Amino acid sequence: MNRHSNIAELDDRVASEIRVRGRVQGVGFRPTVLRFARELGLSGEVLNDSSGVLIRAFGSEAAIAALIARIEREPPPLARIDAIETQPCRGDPTAGFVIAASLGGEAHTQVTPDAVVCADCAEEAANPFERRYRYPFTNCTHCGPRLSIVSGIPYDRTNTTMAPFAMCPACRAEYDNPADRRFHAEAIACHVCGPKARLVRFDGRPFSFDQFSMMDDVDAACGLMKNGEIVAIKGIGGYQLACDATKPDVVARLRQLKKRDAKPFAMMARDMDVIRRYCSVSAEEEALLKRPCAPIVLLRADGAEKLPAAIAPGLATLGFMLPTSPMHLLMLRRMARPVVMTSGNLSDEPQVISDQEAGERLGGIAAYALMHDREIANRIDDSVARVVAGRPRVMRRARGYAPESIMLPKGFEAAPELLAMGGELKSTFCLVRDGAAILSQHQGDLEDVRTFDDYRNNLALYTELFNHAPVALVADLHPEYLSSKLARQRATADALPLIEVQHHHAHVASCLAENGHALDAPAVLGIVLDGLGWGGNDTLWGGEFLLADYFRYQRLGTFKPVAMLGGAQAAREPWRNLYAHLMAEMTWPALAMNFDGLELHDYLAGKPRATLDAMMKNGINAPVASSCGRLFDAVAAALDICRERQAYEGEAAARLEAMVDHDALRHEDDALGYPFSIPNLRGSGLPYIEPLAMWNAVLGDLILKTPAPVMAARFHKGLAKSIVAMTRKLASGEDEAALRRFTTVALSGGCFQNRVLFEEVSRRLEAEGFAVLSQAQVPANDGGLAFGQAAIGAAHLIKSSKQTTNQWEGNASCVSAFPDGS
Ligand SMILES: [Zn+2]
Ligand SMILES: [Zn+2]
Repeated sequence: MNRHSNIAELDDRVASEIRVRGRVQGVGFRPTVLRFARELGLSGEVLNDSSGVLIRAFGSEAAIAALIARIEREPPPLARIDAIETQPCRGDPTAGFVIAASLGGEAHTQVTPDAVVCADCAEEAANPFERRYRYPFTNCTHCGPRLSIVSGIPYDRTNTTMAPFAMCPACRAEYDNPADRRFHAEAIACHVCGPKARLVRFDGRPFSFDQFSMMDDVDAACGLMKNGEIVAIKGIGGYQLACDATKPDVVARLRQLKKRDAKPFAMMARDMDVIRRYCSVSAEEEALLKRPCAPIVLLRADGAEKLPAAIAPGLATLGFMLPTSPMHLLMLRRMARPVVMTSGNLSDEPQVISDQEAGERLGGIAAYALMHDREIANRIDDSVARVVAGRPRVMRRARGYAPESIMLPKGFEAAPELLAMGGELKSTFCLVRDGAAILSQHQGDLEDVRTFDDYRNNLALYTELFNHAPVALVADLHPEYLSSKLARQRATADALPLIEVQHHHAHVASCLAENGHALDAPAVLGIVLDGLGWGGNDTLWGGEFLLADYFRYQRLGTFKPVAMLGGAQAAREPWRNLYAHLMAEMTWPALAMNFDGLELHDYLAGKPRATLDAMMKNGINAPVASSCGRLFDAVAAALDICRERQAYEGEAAARLEAMVDHDALRHEDDALGYPFSIPNLRGSGLPYIEPLAMWNAVLGDLILKTPAPVMAARFHKGLAKSIVAMTRKLASGEDEAALRRFTTVALSGGCFQNRVLFEEVSRRLEAEGFAVLSQAQVPANDGGLAFGQAAIGAAHLIKSSKQTTNQWEGNASCVSAFPDGS
């Protein structure tokens, strides 16, 4: 205290205005500033306005500098500071330091992502001497529900599902006290005034807790799981289905009842010790698990203890998260085992959020439900992330991430408000406002009617929450994507320009924008590997090498175009791609002659080859696509890892990755990686990755009975080498001696979520002197498309007046309103 009073006594008092930008509202920023300022003996005020937080401080220069340093060093846990600007100001010193009324900016208070229970609240809920002891909805400004309970703006209690709960005097006092960590915590609650948890039986019959040693309904839910029951749990962004993950029969029952064949189940564990029994966890992975967004983290399943295979069939990873709400924390308190915590839905439907729907749709799966009377306003799935090459990379961006804004790079400051509608699978949409992008939560596949409803509801919600008025819409080129169709309808109805963006170009831009690649920075080589996207000239693309910036792209190279037998069926049945790939390289008699001893030959001989051959020959229901995903499917089918049917998108590739023998990958001679060549396509002359030699090597290894894990390693290594060889070739162009055409490579597309492929490709590219950009805060899969579309749309609008005709192949095409004159 002496130090502070000394500062106040100095005779060099100055006045400073300090502007803090970023995520600084609704996160307890003002009370934090107040505390620091008072401790430093400063006078003045702190307030919210439409640009963030504004501080007017009077005191010594040293004390003001110390205030800024402390704000930078110890911001509130949920804050994100983008910039702090200081300038001298006029005004008379005030007595003391206060929180002043907001300047017309309360309506702009940002809605922030839901945050996992903080350490202080967890401690309170565990302390018998606190009034929130064992209270399942304990929260403060540093934690608790946000987006999941919001129904409108401004973000205050009346516009959340906490509105029906009138604060008790004790909570009100905390809410009104600037020095309290619950100052303006909109979801503040306690046993007296807040929501209550209750355990119910779905069949409505009464039950007694006598059989459990328990204290309350939350404890009883834990007891039920220990007894082998499946319990539906009302989580933060939706219902979940939970059971003891160590009981094989219960896990199998859950799979059967939920109609979920093979897609891995996520799990929750009360602490790191439980997780470490099953997985090795790096420091980065532990930090990711413990972040306020608390995603499901994919971890290597190489711990001392094993879980039933039915948790994650055929995979080498397990998805774990730590307790996300105080209710989960209390429930798992006495659970020394992991529990399955999977989304509460049937098959691929959206997660259930209402209590009534829970009874209707989950009553056949779980006998009991741990419910509560705080409504979930917005459905938000658990997020999924993975640490690859030392960086946390989000694969499903939902709870804890949305609606966090992502700053767009230099040059995008002048971007007008626009809306990018995303793709079809793993759909998201993206708003651009104030030089930042607001990417919606993951919503699932739009072909599901309920998911599409959800998507439209969320569009309306975000429009209101962010007071958003787009001047243009951006959509994928694909004529049949529901998001593209909706964009065309809206463009017509609202007389807005529609900007159509090629799928893989959007992937490249997504990677560039999240890496801060400036608007006018040179073009890069985008390597985008995924399942399928609408290409230029009405062709289907999927493994592409594009020279691209935000404005345009040129397709420099590709994967081999191969028939997708049965169209969409080919994405579900890997054997179809195996057959198409082999028949693209050799005739059936040649295969039969050389490899008729193979089980693979007998398997394919049992398929309706005459029909398939006719489809390929006549181009009926067999569109040709340069897909990377289908190549993985074909190889997985050849190795009999996933042959007949995929239970979920990417299963074959995920199993192939899981199969990789890491010893062979690291130590086997590089030359044993399966060979690919890079000839040129007939007609276009485009260089492409030709797998003929790879297939011969695979078939040869099958004859030699080479173990599948070694073959999987050789495939990944060979493919990575061929991608790098293609990059080298494209960089040098025709003239090997000339300067490289690009020095930066951007990796995107769902196939790069494969850790082995990603690490092999990026390591080898870096070794050859390329700068490698990759995705981390935005998914590499189609969940990141909307973000890339937003960047391209914004670039287009910023530069549309200056744009000159160019020699490039594709650029974002602007379709005017009323294209058909209707
Ligand atoms: Zn808290
Ligand atoms: Zn209360």
